[in-house]
Amino acid sequence: MLLFRISLIFLVFININLLFSLDYKLKNIRFSENHKNKSLRIVLDLTHKAAYTVFSLNNNPRLVIDLESKSDIKKFKNESKFIKEIRSRKTEQNVMRIVFDIKSNFYIDRHFYLKKNEKNIFRLVIDLKINNKNSAIYKEKRPSRDSQFIITIDAGHGGIDPGAINIGKKEKNITLAAAKELKRILEKKNFKVFLTRKDDTFISLRNRRNIAKKNNSDLFISLHVDSLKKKTTRGTSIYTLSEKASDSITAKLAERENKVDLIAGVNLQDVDNEVASILLDLSRRETKNSSSLFAESYIKTVRKNGHRVLRRPHRHAGFAVLKSTDIPSVLIELGFLSNVNDVKLLTNKKTRLRLLVSLAEAIEVYVNKRRSYN
Ligand SMILES: [Zn+2]
Repeated sequence: MLLFRISLIFLVFININLLFSLDYKLKNIRFSENHKNKSLRIVLDLTHKAAYTVFSLNNNPRLVIDLESKSDIKKFKNESKFIKEIRSRKTEQNVMRIVFDIKSNFYIDRHFYLKKNEKNIFRLVIDLKINNKNSAIYKEKRPSRDSQFIITIDAGHGGIDPGAINIGKKEKNITLAAAKELKRILEKKNFKVFLTRKDDTFISLRNRRNIAKKNNSDLFISLHVDSLKKKTTRGTSIYTLSEKASDSITAKLAERENKVDLIAGVNLQDVDNEVASILLDLSRRETKNSSSLFAESYIKTVRKNGHRVLRRPHRHAGFAVLKSTDIPSVLIELGFLSNVNDVKLLTNKKTRLRLLVSLAEAIEVYVNKRRSYN
């Protein structure tokens, strides 16, 4: 009984604390900009170190900040020449979404918290780099649904890291050939496509993500070919990010793929900071949803077109290469190097192209769906 009472007191105590901690308020938004280097700093003055997530949307360039806040929605004054309009609304209880319509394409350079100032105010800083290419910055850019969708294709492995190997065939060569072919197919469909590598070079997983970010990508696709001890397993599969792997095979696969940077002797600094861990749940939600939407569209399309898919073809795992908080990212295993039939399909250009054409079709379906949401 006594124990019960103690735990009850403890429970109440925690709840009160929770209430206080949720009393986050956004006091003000300030701007400083440099027109010469086309950079914009947005500073949010906050009463607490609130959890947040920040991401960009590229058709009609927008910066979106989801912020844990109890503030009432108010009009924020736009004091930047780079910004067209600022809007805000509550997306759920205690979460405020602030949308900045940016006049030109941009990317999020970095975001971080400054220490509390003497007035006890926390400052969340978001630095944007405005793209030079788009010189229409001072002109009103007409919002268009037809703006080009940008995709970064990542050919897995490369250089001193061959990936899976079987009967003299290397994963890194198949992924590179596939990435180049997919680029051509997508360009014919009027997509803007970048590759993380164009030849047999080694790139760290983090740099692969950075390339996608620098290119303002709307979608990141990492291509791989899996390998298993069990030689009969075959078919394509697709992975989206999750902190927990959906099964042990997936966990092992993620471990293998993530080790790549260690093999190559690159010290992978962990990008996750203190804040990132608080918001793991709140953040990535949007990106995760989009990644899953694409994964579903891929599986549907390849199935419909008669390609062999792995049992439970959409899986989740903590792949380092997918950890972009603001770009929907997927990892596709085109098939298995450990399976003779898959090796034949993937090393023959004609049959490989068939799968890539289906992948391109899935991308189109996904893009149309996403556009209809805007
Ligand atoms: Zn791989």
